Amino acid sequence: MPQAYQRGLSDEFNDGVHNAHESQAYAGPVSRPPAIALAPGIYRIPTMGDFINSVALLEGDGSVTLIDCGVKRAPATIVKGLAHLGKSPADVQRIILTHAHSDHAGGAARMVDETGLAGVEVHTDDAEYIRSGSASPRDTTTRLGAIFSRLPGGGFPATPVVREITDGELINVGGGLRIHHTPGHSPGHISLIHEPTATLITGDAIWNMNARMTWPVAAFCTSYRQNQQTAQVLGDLEYAVAAFTHGPEIRGNAREQVRDFLQRATKKQ
Ligand SMILES: [Zn+2]
Repeated sequence: MPQAYQRGLSDEFNDGVHNAHESQAYAGPVSRPPAIALAPGIYRIPTMGDFINSVALLEGDGSVTLIDCGVKRAPATIVKGLAHLGKSPADVQRIILTHAHSDHAGGAARMVDETGLAGVEVHTDDAEYIRSGSASPRDTTTRLGAIFSRLPGGGFPATPVVREITDGELINVGGGLRIHHTPGHSPGHISLIHEPTATLITGDAIWNMNARMTWPVAAFCTSYRQNQQTAQVLGDLEYAVAAFTHGPEIRGNAREQVRDFLQRATKKQ
C-alpha cells in the first residue's frame, strides 16, 4: 500500500477542480472520448477534462508506455482510456513521470499497483521527491510560492522509482522517445519527443489552457525564471504535434506556434 500522506492545499485544489468538472464545467451533452489520437500509436488520455492529461504510447508488440498518472483519483479514468484502446493495465510495461507534482504523480503509486510494475521512471533530479511522495520545492521568490512553501501538503503517495532518466537519452519505446531535461518547473522536469511521429510532450514547461499557451503558474515552479529559460529548447526541436499535460494538443504547425509563444512570452519580461 502507498504510504499515508498529509492532506494539503493541492489536494483541496485537485478535488475542487475535479468536482467542478463533474458537476458544472462539463455538464451537458459534451462527451469526450476516453482517449484521443495524437498521431499513430500515441494517445492523449484526458483525466480531468482537458485540464490534466496522461499520454499512452502503444507498441507494435501490444505493450503500452504511460506518461504521467494525473491526480490521486485519476487511475480509474486512465484505465478506462486504456480500455478504449483495447488495453488493460497489465499491458503497461513502463510508466514515465514528467515531474514530481501531485497532478502528474498523484495516481502513480496506484498505477504501479494496477500494472504490476516495480515502479516508475523519472529524471534523477526529481527521483527523491517521487520516492518520498513530496512535491518539488516552490519558487520562494514569488509571493504565492513563498506562502505555499510554508504550508503543509502538495504531497502524493510515495512511489518506487525503477530507473532514473537523464537528459538526451533515447528511450527504446515506440521507435524512440527522446528525453529533454527542461528544469525550472521542477529540478528534474522533462519534456519528451516521440521521434517517429514527431510528437512533442511538453509536460508542464508550457501549458495550453483556455486555447492559448502560457507559462505554468509561477508559484508552482521551483524556479519560474529557469523554466522560461530551459523551455526555449522546445523552439529548436522538430515536431508536428505538441501535446500538453494541461490543455488540448496543437496539431499541424505546432512547432511554429510554440516558437511564436516562446518569442512573445520572452519579449514581455
Ligand atoms: Zn507541475
